[in-house]
Amino acid sequence: MAKKKLVFSFPPRLIQEPVTSNLIRNFDLEVNLLRARIQPREQGRIVAELSGTSESLAAGMAYLEDQGVEVDTLIQEIRHYSDLCINCTVCTGVCPTDALTVNPGTQELVFDASHCIMCEACVAACSYGAMESQF
Ligand code: SF4
Ligand code: SF4
Repeated sequence: MAKKKLVFSFPPRLIQEPVTSNLIRNFDLEVNLLRARIQPREQGRIVAELSGTSESLAAGMAYLEDQGVEVDTLIQEIRHYSDLCINCTVCTGVCPTDALTVNPGTQELVFDASHCIMCEACVAACSYGAMESQF
């Protein structure tokens, strides 16, 4: 089970839409609302913690993006420590995006933070402490 704390910014056209209940119903995610500020005809902002499998989180994030919801991660960052990494590639098997791949030339792990959805699956999978989640 992975967790993410996120800030959702809704454009005015989505204020009346059941976006968060769709996350629960259609993507099997638990949504724990931490803070909400929604006013008619203005942008809405919600701070929430989403829990679910890595795949559900990835699908839910893709849905939000499709709907035009801006999603920001709440002060969280995934770090890769290459000095601790033995390039066993275990983490590439659990990463639901292309954030962790192997360089076919050097056989070394490549971490592309721009594709990371901070599901933390790699942190749990790495036995060498080479992946870390920082809040
Ligand atoms: S699981 Fe850890 S040690 Fe193995 S490739 Fe990934 S980061 Fe490196
Ligand atoms: S790099 Fe780690 S935290 Fe980022 S998406 Fe892949 S498995 Fe999840």
